[in-house]
Amino acid sequence: MKELDLVIHNPSGLHARPAKVFVNTAKQFKSDIRLQHGAKKANAKSMISILTLGVESGGQIRLIVNGPDEDEAVAILKAAIEDGLGDEHPPQDGQQSKPQKDKAEGQVISDSQPQAKPARPEKAESDERVVRGVPASTGIAIGPLYQFKKVEIVVDETATDPAHEKSRLQEAIAAATSELITLHAEVKQRIGAEEAAIFEAHQAILEDPDLFESASTRIEGGASAGHAWQATIKSTAAQLAALQDELLSARAADIRDVGNKVLQILVGADGDTSELPSDPVILIAEDLAPSDTASLDVNRVLGFCTAIGGANAHTAILARALGLPAIVGAGSGVLKLKNGTSAILNGDTGTLTLDPDPEVLTAAKNLQEEHKIRRATELEAALKPAITQDNHQVEVVANIGNVADAKQALGFGAEGVGLLRSEFLFLDRTDAPSEAEQFKVYRDIAVALDGHPVIVRTLDVGGDKPLPYVPMPPEENPFLGVRGLRLCLARPDLLRSQLRAILRAAEFGSLRVMFPMVANVAELSAARRLVDEVQAELSSPQIEVGIMIEIPAAAVLADIFAKDVDFFSIGTNDLTQYTLAMDRGHPELSAQADGLHPAVLRLIDKTVQAAHAAGKWVGVCGELGADPQAVPILVGLGVDELSVSVPAIPAVKAQIRSLSLSTAKRLAAEALECASATEVRRTVDSLSLRTFSKANGNKG
Ligand code: PEP
Ligand code: MG
Repeated sequence: MKELDLVIHNPSGLHARPAKVFVNTAKQFKSDIRLQHGAKKANAKSMISILTLGVESGGQIRLIVNGPDEDEAVAILKAAIEDGLGDEHPPQDGQQSKPQKDKAEGQVISDSQPQAKPARPEKAESDERVVRGVPASTGIAIGPLYQFKKVEIVVDETATDPAHEKSRLQEAIAAATSELITLHAEVKQRIGAEEAAIFEAHQAILEDPDLFESASTRIEGGASAGHAWQATIKSTAAQLAALQDELLSARAADIRDVGNKVLQILVGADGDTSELPSDPVILIAEDLAPSDTASLDVNRVLGFCTAIGGANAHTAILARALGLPAIVGAGSGVLKLKNGTSAILNGDTGTLTLDPDPEVLTAAKNLQEEHKIRRATELEAALKPAITQDNHQVEVVANIGNVADAKQALGFGAEGVGLLRSEFLFLDRTDAPSEAEQFKVYRDIAVALDGHPVIVRTLDVGGDKPLPYVPMPPEENPFLGVRGLRLCLARPDLLRSQLRAILRAAEFGSLRVMFPMVANVAELSAARRLVDEVQAELSSPQIEVGIMIEIPAAAVLADIFAKDVDFFSIGTNDLTQYTLAMDRGHPELSAQADGLHPAVLRLIDKTVQAAHAAGKWVGVCGELGADPQAVPILVGLGVDELSVSVPAIPAVKAQIRSLSLSTAKRLAAEALECASATEVRRTVDSLSLRTFSKANGNKG
């Protein structure tokens, strides 16, 4: 047996990212490898076990290796720790640093920004039977309410045959893994790889050797498989949660979620939904884990409404994929509603109407029927252009995050890609993607879009999304830190290879390049210089260059920026969070972070005016672009292009066809004079519904 004391110098300690590198290194050896930190010991081949040690920067660990390749294992692990475990420049001995809010691993599990829906702050207006939340998934559901509660699964405490119990547990873990593989494949096919990744992360949890080992020890002590597993899950999740770290709490929730799945299989329960009444219901829940949502029986669930929202965009995205109308962030009041209360859930307006009067019910039923017909009509007309009644065309293009989305986009009527989030190429890996790898992906996307324009946004990470191969000191406020273009300018090697890949792929289609998170003109100039240099190196043709307008400073200086770009694309998700100083993923505030806030609208207005004065065009690529209440306002403000998620394209195009530019302009002018987002939404309801809704649904 070999023992060696070492010090961890990584700025974030032995945290998610370096821990993963350490575990993967340890797994290459046959020897048993343990880490000791103070009184706690961990299996070095178990990520969960290592995380629960909570080793901070400067912390001492003892490496204990026992087995046939112990010498080699000690040497390699020592070198890996000294090399920084994927962090390039760990600080010098003795330098303490605050644990980083490291979300490198958390991206998969808890970073869920992509499809936040428009926010509706107020809980109830004049009618106290109307509860308001955040619209999360379109459609109308009518039915009785039923509160979905996680039932504590009851298990026998003891068992007499440990060998039998262990094999039952092994079988249950294998069955849960295969369910997760199926769920992953289904979600990947229906929605996309990024959204499905959470179920891969869940599989990795089940593969963790420590969970099984710890449950086995309990089984040997006389516990039943169910009891041993339940206790293991509870204590592991509690240990992670107790470390008081955002990332690890998210992982604790995942451990509970995935642990519950195994438990259900062990006791033969048919999942939580077995508790549902046989007649379909509208589910009320405090929150739903992604796997709860993905496995909802759509024959028994008409729609759902959760008390909290924001941090669970995964759930909202999955609801849309399942075609379930949904509202999130409706407030804890909904948990007090009685089961069986009859209700109308409107996923478009984010309202839950309780005990509706007969005439309201009839109207809702009609609306529901119209909704179905409208969706079918929208899909049928998806390939037609979006031209208003008075002949004004708005381009409708797709937000995509991978090649699969690109392949679907044209079929849903996309006229191009307004935002390719290139992050998918860079996240969840230990080294940067090569130029060749990137080139191939950009080329495949360009080819899939068959000559239609594709805007490739350069890497938008950093701060809250650190990359192992871009070591950075911890930041107090990562959303205000080194991210987006700032990060790329600090690492021009990364930007250069991305630009080379884009420019080379541009030969195969119509690619444009766009820089995210621009605040200063100097940043744009530096980025443009790099584009020019790469263009000269490759002797490639000119490419259009644009920037995202998502920092208020860029909107305010849009007239100056407009001289140096070919186009703007307004990132309303970030523009809203920075204008209102409200974290877009905040579980309580995100419901108020509404892009229809007049302050945000005035910034959009300013941007459009400045761009048009300079002869440049403007798109909107934030979620606001697919919000039915926002579409007429954005069109009225003169936005030239709306870039929305692929499934939203047919509805956005249909809505534009139902508008008239002159009325949309009138509405936009009124919205700019409103005092709050609520007032803007009321104005849309009163003016646009009166004026537009007759046309909407009959056209297409
Ligand atoms: C935005 O901020 O609106 C945007 C489209 O970019 P992302 O959501 O990727 O930050
Ligand atoms: Mg953004």
